[in-house]
Amino acid sequence: MNILTVRDLSAGYGATDVLHKVNFAVEQGTIVALLGANGAGKTTILRALSGLLPSRGVVEFSGMHLRQCSPARRVELGLAHIPQGRGTFGDFSVEDNLAAGAFTIRDKKQIRQDMERWYSAFPRLAERRRQQAGSLSGGEQQMLALARALMSRPKLLMCDEPSLGLAPAITEQIFEIFKSLNDEHGMTILIVEQNADLTLQFAHTAYVMEAGEITVSGTASELLSNEAVQQSYLGV
Ligand code: ATP
Repeated sequence: MNILTVRDLSAGYGATDVLHKVNFAVEQGTIVALLGANGAGKTTILRALSGLLPSRGVVEFSGMHLRQCSPARRVELGLAHIPQGRGTFGDFSVEDNLAAGAFTIRDKKQIRQDMERWYSAFPRLAERRRQQAGSLSGGEQQMLALARALMSRPKLLMCDEPSLGLAPAITEQIFEIFKSLNDEHGMTILIVEQNADLTLQFAHTAYVMEAGEITVSGTASELLSNEAVQQSYLGV
């Protein structure tokens, strides 16, 4: 079953369209990669899906049409967006960042329980719960951004370029976290990345974007053996 279906999605900045009738779907319980070079339109897709950018076309999420929904309502429905550059509040403590992630949740007991749950999954955040987010390392900030998004109890976690600015070993740790969220919690995850090599090791299916269109799609192993993808994105 698809948790997200996108049909003929167009969006852009001012009068210029950057996305040209994009079609794709995300199956529940899977990790899906959205790959492509710099400027292909990947971030624009995530911004349109989370309602930060006006768009045309159909976005069906968890059986609902999102057209009329505000960004906050989309979070409430279970769509979480971790922006490029993490978007954590540098002057806030780790704990206050987590609390901010739960802005759609009214039940205080649930918020406390979820915080403890993610502290035990991310012990490094627990140790630093009173520390200012801005003083964390890049990898820790990505972890915090992830935990903050999880505080909204998402059905779909969308993460924009998690590897940006991180050393390869740290990036791999972040991807291992995605994998365990998927394996152990059944979390559906959409990852936007330029690092196709690594992402295809973790994703089930993938789409490749070029100039605002999806040009290739398939299972991760199909893409890994696709010659055009190998030449353009896998450094083969
Ligand atoms: P990257 O990996 O570099 O983030 P991307 O695939 O996510 O690339 P987008 O950020 O979606 O690409 O950008 C797609 C196109 O839209 C690019 O040509 C970019 O210059 C343009 N663009 C992005 N943001 C804006 C903006 N705020 N105003 C005008 N044009 C923009």
